[in-house]
Amino acid sequence: MYKTTIGLEIHFEGKTKSKMFCSCLNDPNEKIPNTNICPICTGHPGTLPVINEEAINKLILVGLALNCEIAKHSKFDRKSYFYPDLPKGYQISQYDLPLCKNGYLDINLDDGTTKKIRINRIHMEEDTGRLGHSSNSSLVDFNRAGVPLMELVTEADINSSEEAKKFAQELQLILRYLDVSDADMEKGQMRCEVNISISKTDAWGTKVEIKNLNSFRVVEKSIEFEIKRQAEILESGGSVVQETRGWHDTKQITMEQRSKEDAFEYRYFPEPDLPPINVNENIIINIQKHMPELPEEKRIRFKEEYKLDDKSIEFFVKDIVMGNYFEKIVSELNCWCDDKECKMNEDFDYVKICSNYLSVDFQAMFKNDELLKGKEYNTALLESIITPENFGEFICMIGSGELSSKTAKMVLEEMYKTHGDPSSIVEEKGLSQMTDSGEVEGIIKDVLAKNPKAVEDYKAGKQNSFTFLVGQIMAASKGKANPQSVGEMLKKELDN
Ligand SMILES: [Zn+2]
Repeated sequence: MYKTTIGLEIHFEGKTKSKMFCSCLNDPNEKIPNTNICPICTGHPGTLPVINEEAINKLILVGLALNCEIAKHSKFDRKSYFYPDLPKGYQISQYDLPLCKNGYLDINLDDGTTKKIRINRIHMEEDTGRLGHSSNSSLVDFNRAGVPLMELVTEADINSSEEAKKFAQELQLILRYLDVSDADMEKGQMRCEVNISISKTDAWGTKVEIKNLNSFRVVEKSIEFEIKRQAEILESGGSVVQETRGWHDTKQITMEQRSKEDAFEYRYFPEPDLPPINVNENIIINIQKHMPELPEEKRIRFKEEYKLDDKSIEFFVKDIVMGNYFEKIVSELNCWCDDKECKMNEDFDYVKICSNYLSVDFQAMFKNDELLKGKEYNTALLESIITPENFGEFICMIGSGELSSKTAKMVLEEMYKTHGDPSSIVEEKGLSQMTDSGEVEGIIKDVLAKNPKAVEDYKAGKQNSFTFLVGQIMAASKGKANPQSVGEMLKKELDN
């Protein structure tokens, strides 16, 4: 058996008002090329960069969330290379004195264990522009040039594709909780690189780098492919070549991009146009004060406070908007429960029922909503959300027996479509449960008269007939009778 050793390098774009070293807008949604540009971010000679304080503070926040040491003194360096989307001919980055180092992130694995992945460093740099190619030309868009870009490098503590994927997913979630980055991989706001080697001994094997992995699925697949590819080479007596590879999504394989001989010499040297970064204790204390609740803290709180199962907790932790929405509805219901007028049955678990209706029924309607196709996820979700008051009232009506589970689904669909309140919908559509026992009695008598054979069978001791009769009565009431009271009344009628 080979031991797999993996280190990750993850880049993520900072969500700031302006770019890293100029006052141009940092707008990832700008569609018109070269709109948010100026002489600084297009690298004109004689211009001077200025450090974006908001971006530095956001990196410190990430560092604190990931248990890093924040360097009291750090600096920027020039990383020199030529590429058409890099107008200065160098990238401003951090070389030997990164702002954050020696952190870690605990990840939860599928087998229920937790694993600590150490983080070597997180530093600040600037993003490049983008190239667009057509059949006879290449065009460059500098809207992204100079956007704050943070790079995180892990220690080689990762031993499987599952661990690599879980690390990247948890990091993405943390960045979103911190509001530091949207970290959308499809949009290139978060990019992963994998360093992977396999070996039969404790010593590391030859390291292969896989670049530009733009989804969690591709991170997982490319690692699995590499483990197999490298094992086959070693099994046949060959040796793995140290090189950079890329993922070919159509062929589902990694392919050579460049060998070690082509490795760049970046000629790092301190950026002469920028002062060093000095971070004092007060700045750190101040940023720590604004640390929001992190995903793992939320998992623990949801378990204690709402006693939900792990799957539901993960649903609300991963989807921040749904998690907040759930909490608002539950707090509405808590108020109602404190109210003496509340009609919910005492043993009705409104927290669990609310969680189920949100994560299953509401989610299904939202996902199948044709009107929302093509919209940004959170925008679409916020548009679709029924007010917490109305959703709370809906749950309350289930808890008090006013809505059967069957009519509840119909009411919810109507609430979703019209954003109306549940009691008006019930009234308009005539969906309330039959509470008039005289009406139910009439239906029972009617059904019994029409099914003398079933009555006979029941009296002869056949329990199936009872179930059959309840079904007939429910159908005759169009689902509006309460099945429990129908059962009780029917028994009384038959045993008379
Ligand atoms: Zn600019």
